[in-house]
Amino acid sequence: LVSFILYQSDLADNIRTLIYIFGDMLNSVGAAGKVFEYLDREPQVSTKGTLQPETLTGHVQFHNLSFSYPTRQERKVLQGFSLELRPGQLTALVGPSGGGKSTCVSLLERFYQPQQGEILLDGLPLQSYQHHYLHRKIAMVGQEPVLFSGSVKDNIAYGLADCSLERVQEAARRANAHSFISQLEKGYDTDVGERGGQLSGGEKQRIAIARALIREPQVLILDEVTSALDTESEHMVQEALASCPSQTLLVIAHRLKTIERADQIILIDQGTVQEQGTHQELMDRKGSYYKLKERLFTEDDQKSITLPTQENK
Ligand code: ATP
Repeated sequence: LVSFILYQSDLADNIRTLIYIFGDMLNSVGAAGKVFEYLDREPQVSTKGTLQPETLTGHVQFHNLSFSYPTRQERKVLQGFSLELRPGQLTALVGPSGGGKSTCVSLLERFYQPQQGEILLDGLPLQSYQHHYLHRKIAMVGQEPVLFSGSVKDNIAYGLADCSLERVQEAARRANAHSFISQLEKGYDTDVGERGGQLSGGEKQRIAIARALIREPQVLILDEVTSALDTESEHMVQEALASCPSQTLLVIAHRLKTIERADQIILIDQGTVQEQGTHQELMDRKGSYYKLKERLFTEDDQKSITLPTQENK
């Protein structure tokens, strides 16, 4: 009943967003700054769009965006920002901390409205689409996904009425989660509240990917885990991405393997696209990406990319 109500109104949509946000927040308790960061993320956009096309390819264009956060209007976080995401392609966003990667994703999720420029989805402004429709078509999997108290099945089918076990399993298979879920004592009926603490970061992220995939989004955004993942989990998340051949995939990438396999890499620094191309193209150019990549080779495990902050560049 709660899920039903939550999916019926714009107010409910905001509440639902806050539940997601608070859940995320609780996962990162300890950083008081984060609390305000997340509270700030309550959607501040119009929800009057009506378009709900039956088919959507997921072609996204950021057109010359300028954006400042409402709380810091004097500071342009994105400026002259243009970017194209194509269906069936994996785009990796990379760049120094504070460069604007998460902001770019927040704008695509419509948490904020850019002050200048626009984002087009299949050639039409994002705000012309119906709000709930857009939330179904653009899915985001965060670094520390929230798992709710309840079964694994309910966590994957969250908010979907009458969702069969077969449909849940199909999504879990695509997310590379089926095999480890099946090995849990109660399988899909396992209570995540009890077992959540025992699931690894990679397993939680795969459940969250399944929860995203079951809604058949056309655009899937993944904020890759920065902390060390075991090799198997890393491989499994990589494989899950490969199971989305027609979707538009956008990854805030922290792992060399993801970056190397991306169809295009976007290097964002100081709110603009500094470089873009494939790994090989950017390596051949020997510009900013090349220099950052050189530093990567000095990293201990060469798996996790630690990019310099703007301050210590
Ligand atoms: P990281 O890799 O550390 O996550 P990022 O590239 O994703 O960094 P953003 O989080 O988009 O960068 O931040 C871009 C700039 O916007 C930073 O200067 C940051 O301090 C600022 N910023 C981010 N969120 C907010 C907010 N809610 N209110 C005000 N300023 C913000």
